[in-house]
Amino acid sequence: MEAAREPAGGDVEFARLAKAIRFDHVSFAYDDGAAPALDDISLEIPAGAVTAVVGPSGAGKSTLIDLLPRLRDPTAGRISFDGRPIEDFSLETLRRGIAYAPQSPQVFSVTIADHIRYGRPGASDADIREAARLAEADGFISQLGDGYDTQLGEGGVGLSGGQRQRLDLARALVRKAPILILDEPTSNLDADAEALLRETIQRIRRETDITVIVVGHRLSTVRNADRIVVLGAGQVADLGNHAELVARGGWYAEAFAKQTRDSQPVEPRAALA
Ligand code: ADP
Repeated sequence: MEAAREPAGGDVEFARLAKAIRFDHVSFAYDDGAAPALDDISLEIPAGAVTAVVGPSGAGKSTLIDLLPRLRDPTAGRISFDGRPIEDFSLETLRRGIAYAPQSPQVFSVTIADHIRYGRPGASDADIREAARLAEADGFISQLGDGYDTQLGEGGVGLSGGQRQRLDLARALVRKAPILILDEPTSNLDADAEALLRETIQRIRRETDITVIVVGHRLSTVRNADRIVVLGAGQVADLGNHAELVARGGWYAEAFAKQTRDSQPVEPRAALA
């Protein structure tokens, strides 16, 4: 029970990220004595850019992401936002400042507008449309008979995997949080939806100053990221942009070549070079 208790936050309001999130020698172990899920991670996530976190299944991607809203705290090392320790911020403003679009979004039995509004109760219709536009959801919504008033869920309109994802991205974007974590879907996305997601991420990059962190499963989706962090067995195995990582010929280069060949959203367990 002690371990499951919410961490105490500080009293600094987290309102924006101007420079970077930093991990300094961060480790995390789920159990005493177990191999650490994160092992001495040092890295910088620059503000206003797109950073992708990739790597084989079990590498530590989800664990790393969980540390940002303090769902877990490091067992060693420290995390800071613009140089300030993460513990200084109030838990409420920290969590409000981090929007999360999960892999498998839940779609509720409400109208499209209300679904997006879950992100920020009280959001105006204009805010909802703007978020939908940024998420590339505006197009398909407009084509539905009742537009934003279309009923979702049971007895409502059925959406494709890509459409659900974009709707949920709009829900995350309407929060106007400075940080967006996008857990890329591993399935339900056809090639067109995948290309659209890649384009959407670039659009958010161009048109907002949101710091985007993409947990990538399809390497083609993250190839345009400003920075790609390759995790392997809880450590930073490599770091660079797409061209640099391909040129270095490690796990990333192999996995990218394999995915391009197979068009499969797999997470190869290829040994890290
Ligand atoms: P990824 O997201 O890259 O697949 P994870 O962060 O989920 O990797 O997992 C990293 C390591 O931590 C793996 O060895 C995994 O088995 C372990 N792990 C993940 N979640 C738990 C948990 N709740 N309890 C114990 N071990 C866990």
